Amino acid sequence: MTGSIDHPAVRRDVPLAGHTTYKVGGPAAFWAEPATIADLNDVLDAVPADLPVLVLGRGSNLVFSDTGFAGLVIRPTGEFLDVFVGDEGEVVAGGAAPLPKVARTAAAAGRAGLEFYVGIPGSVGGAIRMNAGGHGSDTAAVLLAATVLDLVTRRIDERTPAELEFGYRRSGLTDRHMVLRASFRTEPGDPPALEGRLRDITRWRKEHQPGGTLNAGSVFKNPPGASAGEIIDRLGLKGYRRGDVAVSEMHANFFVAGPEATARDIWELVRAVRMKVEEATGIVLEPEIRFVGEFGDTEVHP
Ligand SMILES: Cc1cc2nc3c(=O)[nH]c(=O)nc-3n(C[C@H](O)[C@H](O)[C@H](O)COP(=O)(O)OP(=O)(O)OC[C@H]3O[C@@H](n4cnc5c(N)ncnc54)[C@H](O)[C@@H]3O)c2cc1C
Repeated sequence: MTGSIDHPAVRRDVPLAGHTTYKVGGPAAFWAEPATIADLNDVLDAVPADLPVLVLGRGSNLVFSDTGFAGLVIRPTGEFLDVFVGDEGEVVAGGAAPLPKVARTAAAAGRAGLEFYVGIPGSVGGAIRMNAGGHGSDTAAVLLAATVLDLVTRRIDERTPAELEFGYRRSGLTDRHMVLRASFRTEPGDPPALEGRLRDITRWRKEHQPGGTLNAGSVFKNPPGASAGEIIDRLGLKGYRRGDVAVSEMHANFFVAGPEATARDIWELVRAVRMKVEEATGIVLEPEIRFVGEFGDTEVHP
């Protein structure tokens, strides 16, 4: 049994499906969209200690269960979406800023190093939590510092990459942490050349990944020295499905949902593929996408 929130800015039973790239999942019991740190603090003052809280970015790495999330979802907006280039050429962005906007703002200002973000449909906060990366770089390599709020103690800290304990598609941040803002290292660059690089990355994605479909990027992390997609492909699992979700024909580490898909279908397919890979190779794949809520006999708590 969890607590309740009585606050004018907090909505109840807000459908979550439209806020994730898989477009599945039930409602959030409580929902807030703070536009400033003052708004955020005001809502947090009303949150009972026993209520689970989850910060949502662009929902491009999350699957909420069909029964939804029995807590408060915070989706930062307003000032958390800002992106600008600072006096020293660093790029400063709010925790909710979309990564493609970060890449494009930097390139237009002649600042190089963040082009890889153009192909990752997440937010700055999600990228720091997940150490998102691609095309030879990752968040750990380009981050100068992140401003992090501890949702429990309400302390705000400026953290360096070392303090964020980055690893492959992970950081030391947990659900009690919210990235408010971050700054990124860049080098001088030529805007037309940087725009060209953005186009190359976008084209590469279109040619190699099932863009424009319902998915959440790579389903599994790559095991050491191997590619999860190649392992799944070698087992002949392209097209393998559960309900209205199938292993992509284009890239076997992307599982693509159809319009009738449920969160349960995604969960079942991830479990089935993982089991087949383990039986055939002994490798236990670790999911990169994150499941939140109740899945059959399992409750996945944030
Ligand atoms: C088509 C496609 C391609 C992708 N390609 C890549 C890729 O190349 N490389 C890669 O690494 N990933 C990739 N992804 C996965 C995903 O985009 C990244 O993991 C991204 O960083 C997630 O950001 P998000 O804002 O969508 O996070 P969400 O899915 O909203 O949340 C993910 C986690 O981050 C937490 N979180 C979100 N915002 C904050 C915040 N402000 N403060 C603290 N925690 C927060 C959430 O609580 C959750 O635990 C891809 C996804 C898709 C759909």
